[in-house]
Amino acid sequence: MPELPEVETIVRGLRPAIVGRTITHVDIHLKKIAIAPPRIAFARALQGEVFTAVDRRGKYAVARLGSGRALVTSLRMTGRLVVQAPGEPELPGTHIRLSLDDGNRLHFADVRTFGRMRLVEAAETWDADLGIEPLSAGFTPEALIGMLNGRTTPVKAFLLDQRRIAGIGNIYASEALWQARIRPEKPAGALGTPAIRRLHAAIVDVLARAIEMRGSSIDDYVDAEGLQGGFQNVLAVYGRLGQPCSRCGRAIVRTVIAQRGTWWCRGCQR
Ligand SMILES: [Zn+2]
Repeated sequence: MPELPEVETIVRGLRPAIVGRTITHVDIHLKKIAIAPPRIAFARALQGEVFTAVDRRGKYAVARLGSGRALVTSLRMTGRLVVQAPGEPELPGTHIRLSLDDGNRLHFADVRTFGRMRLVEAAETWDADLGIEPLSAGFTPEALIGMLNGRTTPVKAFLLDQRRIAGIGNIYASEALWQARIRPEKPAGALGTPAIRRLHAAIVDVLARAIEMRGSSIDDYVDAEGLQGGFQNVLAVYGRLGQPCSRCGRAIVRTVIAQRGTWWCRGCQR
């Protein structure tokens, strides 16, 4: 499932490929994927639009358009945003295809069809429910101390809550907690200041390293060029049930917290 590092990698790949390009044609193969404001036809509204910028917010890819509107893509479980040159075989599972004026095409493919591509108006606030960006200047240890204060929810569940911190999912929550040596079930508000400082440093470090390695290719994730990432090869705990912890040697366990599988080490996460 694409999280912050994967979406960041996709966005960085899309930027040189689509910014400045005009959308010449829109094909929608699965209607429920394409969402537009009331009384606006998704395909017709996009035709003739120019991509002016591509950014990321949490796990969303945000393409800015010349009209001031934006195209906000949620990849959910298995969504892919891939730019293809003419003549390349169409990406399997493509639901929306945007043809560009240089002949290339931007595909939104999604095998499980949970993803959405949403057209939002310039004045529309679509991200009001999203919390702080963990790689922004505002995400300081002190900010995290304030956010965790009084919370009784398990720290793992807190990290997954997009209304608090935007962009962290199951992979990077598990990895950050391992790096910070924190037990995932521990109530968020019960963490002491040294542990919170370790957690803050671990979140920033894990996300930055994952971006450097172009994300984790687990399930269907590929970047905007259709290439796999590399961080899945250096994961410490995620998906590593029964394998030895690289820090203490004890076998990694999997428990369920807030309905999500959580991989961690009973030996060194206290
Ligand atoms: Zn360990």
